[in-house]
Amino acid sequence: MEVEGRLLPQGRDFVIELRKDRPRERQNFTCAHELGHTFFYDSVPTIKYRSLASVEPHHDEQEEKLCNIAAAELLMPATIFSKIANDFLPSPQSLQEIARTFETSLTATVLRLHGLKLWDATFILWKRRGSALTAAWIARPNRGLTYFPPLAVGDADSSGIYDALRNGKTTVGEEWLTFQNQYRRCHVISACMSNSSAILSCVAGHTHAPSKPTAPHTPAMLPLPLEYDCTCDGTGWRSFKKDGRSYAARCRAAQHFTRCADVPQD
Ligand SMILES: [Zn+2]
Ligand SMILES: [Zn+2]
Repeated sequence: MEVEGRLLPQGRDFVIELRKDRPRERQNFTCAHELGHTFFYDSVPTIKYRSLASVEPHHDEQEEKLCNIAAAELLMPATIFSKIANDFLPSPQSLQEIARTFETSLTATVLRLHGLKLWDATFILWKRRGSALTAAWIARPNRGLTYFPPLAVGDADSSGIYDALRNGKTTVGEEWLTFQNQYRRCHVISACMSNSSAILSCVAGHTHAPSKPTAPHTPAMLPLPLEYDCTCDGTGWRSFKKDGRSYAARCRAAQHFTRCADVPQD
C-alpha cells in the first residue's frame, strides 16, 4: 500500500486499512484521519467513485485539512489536552512526555500545542548527517510546520545543540542560529533523542525569553512536569465507570504501584 492508510466501504460499514510499517503514533493519527473521512462519505460523490474504481487516495485539500483537524481533536481532545499541557513548561522533555501520553507524534503534538495557543515556543528536530546536524523540521507558533528549513547552528564548537549530541545530555543556553542566512540569538534547550541520532530543541518564544542570560550548557533549572500519584493498579491504566459505561484512562504517575495485599481476607 502506497498511502498511509485508506477507508474502504464494506456494505454499510467501513474498513480502515493502515500501513503496518509505520510508527504507532503515525498509525493512530492516520486511523483518526480516516475516521474523519467517514463524515464526508455520504455527502461527497467523488469519494464513492474512489471506492468503486480506484484505490488512489483522493486529494480534496479542504477535506484533508478538515480530517486532520478531526484527527487532532479525536486524539488530543482540546479540554483534556489543554489541562495536561498546562502542567508543563515548554521544553523538549515536556513535548516528548505529552506526545507519549497521547500516543501522538512529536509533530502532531506540537501543532496541537500551537493550534490551541498553549505554548509560545519554537521546536526544531535536528538529525545527524555524518558529524553535522541538519534541521529536519521546525514548528513555529502561528506558522505551522516546515520540513527541511533553511536553518543552521551558528558555531558548532560552542553550540549547546551539538553538545547535546556529543554528550547525550540536555543543554540549556544562549546561542546563535541562522535562519534564511540571518543570525538570531536564541535561548535554546536541547535534548538528545533516545536513538541518539537526533536532537530536539526548544527555542523560547519572546514572552518566555529570560531577561538574564543563562550560562551556556548548564542543564540546571529544567522545567519539570508536576508529579502525579499513581491511581491505577500497576498496569498504567485505570478503568472507571461513568453514565453506565466503562472507560479506561492512562495513569499519569511516573511510577505505578500494585495494590494487592491491602484488602484483608476473611
Ligand atoms: Zn485523507
Ligand atoms: Zn499508576
